[in-house]
Amino acid sequence: MLIKEPIRTCVGCRQKKPKTELVRIVKEQKKEVSIDDTSKKSGRGAYICLDEKCIKQALRSDSLSRALKCTFDEKTLAAELRKKAGHKNDQTSQGNG
Ligand SMILES: [Zn+2]
Repeated sequence: MLIKEPIRTCVGCRQKKPKTELVRIVKEQKKEVSIDDTSKKSGRGAYICLDEKCIKQALRSDSLSRALKCTFDEKTLAAELRKKAGHKNDQTSQGNG
């Protein structure tokens, strides 16, 4: 049975992907920007692949700050994303690019 997933755009590579393949980053009101593992936090969100290329690209182009309409410590967030990415790579290996 196929379920159509919502499609979101990665702020790094700008590719459209199923929401489940991306990580949601959210800026909750009056809170710090954080990674939204539950996809249930309210606030302005941005999506990114758990991919070093996309993380770098997002940092370089400030696309996260722009998508979330605020400035924040992108390096700290990137470090968290990288941690997750490393973990993910233990389980699956998808070769593309
Ligand atoms: Zn991407």
